[in-house]
Amino acid sequence: MTAPASIAPLREFVGAFGRLLDAVPDQSNEPRILSEGGALLRTLVARDNWLPDAFAQPDPARYQQFLLHADSTERFSVVSFVWGPGQATPVHDHTVWGLIGMLRGAEYSQGYEVDAEGQAQLHGQSVRLEAGDVQAVSPLIGDLHRVHNAHADRVSISIHVYGANIGAVRRHTYPAQGGRKPFVSGYSNALLPNLWDRSAELRLASTPA
Ligand code: FE
Repeated sequence: MTAPASIAPLREFVGAFGRLLDAVPDQSNEPRILSEGGALLRTLVARDNWLPDAFAQPDPARYQQFLLHADSTERFSVVSFVWGPGQATPVHDHTVWGLIGMLRGAEYSQGYEVDAEGQAQLHGQSVRLEAGDVQAVSPLIGDLHRVHNAHADRVSISIHVYGANIGAVRRHTYPAQGGRKPFVSGYSNALLPNLWDRSAELRLASTPA
């Protein structure tokens, strides 16, 4: 039997991620957060049946970042990145840990490192993420990258988790001519998905025999 499309997997993910951070005070144990949080994200993106269409819409002008959930104390946030055909980010940093899970389509992530002259230089191989894959970034393991949709003819979507309310974090882009420019990304949406209407399951459970 196929379950109907439901946002329950996202609600369960958010709950599990909050419990993980409860167990890791001060977010001090980043390897544990990335490892156990990465496993939670891998489970979430293993199925592409829960993201509401409103948070999967591309924009012809630029890639979209829809906030799906922000933790009540801003320990973490969950975002859907929607890449139109061929769309790309500039080279940028995050300043906090981040997990990237590919939900639909594919993307390339190319790492960068700042050299002694303050110029962002290619670092390592470009990584191609396919649906179901998870990657991590952070100031400890490599924080600069440029991401682009691997497909020139269709939308790709990745689900990101960050160790802050990422849309309100001061970070940087790294222009080709060198140096870095401050930016605050914000979000593409003003309204959030409703994770919390669990009435259908309660009604089902309370149906008289
Ligand atoms: Fe990024």
